[in-house]
Amino acid sequence: GPDLKVISTLSVGFDHLALDEIKKRGIRVGYTPDVLTDATAELSVALLLSACRRLPEAAEQVKSGGWTTWKPLWMCGYGLSDSTVGIIGLGRIGQAVARRLKPFGVRKFLYTGSGPKPESAAEFGAEFVPLTRLAEESDFVVVTCALTPATQGMCNKDFFGRMKKTSVFVNTSRGAVVNQEDLYNALAHGQIAAAGLDVTTPEPLPTDHPLLSLKNCVILPHIGSATYATRSTMAVLAANNLLAGLRGEPMPHELKL
Ligand code: NDP
Repeated sequence: GPDLKVISTLSVGFDHLALDEIKKRGIRVGYTPDVLTDATAELSVALLLSACRRLPEAAEQVKSGGWTTWKPLWMCGYGLSDSTVGIIGLGRIGQAVARRLKPFGVRKFLYTGSGPKPESAAEFGAEFVPLTRLAEESDFVVVTCALTPATQGMCNKDFFGRMKKTSVFVNTSRGAVVNQEDLYNALAHGQIAAAGLDVTTPEPLPTDHPLLSLKNCVILPHIGSATYATRSTMAVLAANNLLAGLRGEPMPHELKL
């Protein structure tokens, strides 16, 4: 109602906020950028490795007795060595992912976004390319962009159709960046090798969702920033944003509307 003066969100994403209405009402918004970058990048790498090296599927084989005699091609996947990695959204988290992946022997980084960011890209020698080229040339696609009208449904049938059969898709941004039906079809028909998702539509994902029937899709329950230390730092920042807002002082991290 009219008494609402300040919103403090325990997240860097703000796609869940009705920004036009918030702006119209003169409500101030605090959020938590930076402090969750490392944890989310780390989880992105964990998810990528889980998907490309088939970790949940392999662990399940140990439990189910599927692990029998040694077979050369059993449980093989795809590695990062000499690969091309495409980052959709080379922002704080995108750069932190690239920084962590580089030592795995990645040969080339590509990225896309609203425009080239030469200063951010220089550290990785990353090349700015259109989305279509990123899809066609990447062995690994990592989505770390914000959800906006421009990015909603961006990873769709056309996008997956351009990816290589041996490529792995990872999304730690927001579920709605992906057309999940198109992703399901691409995974089920071998158009791409595997996917790792930390975010879905809806959340939680219903337990009978078709994506959960696929062996080559690793799905996590939106745990990107979920380390004890990070959540604690986020909580303190969110509280300080709120208090500053209520006192009419500058917030530690205020969203510019
Ligand atoms: P930043 O604002 O630093 O980065 C967002 C990036 O999105 C920018 O690099 C921007 O590129 C890019 N982007 C915007 N529009 C487009 C577009 N049309 N195509 C491609 N890229 C685009 O945010 P953070 O890195 O801190 O966070 C990114 C997102 O990660 C958050 O918005 C949130 O949704 C998600 N997140 C998920 C978490 C999880 O638990 N899974 C945890 C934390 C965040 P440009 O500058 O060129 O516009």
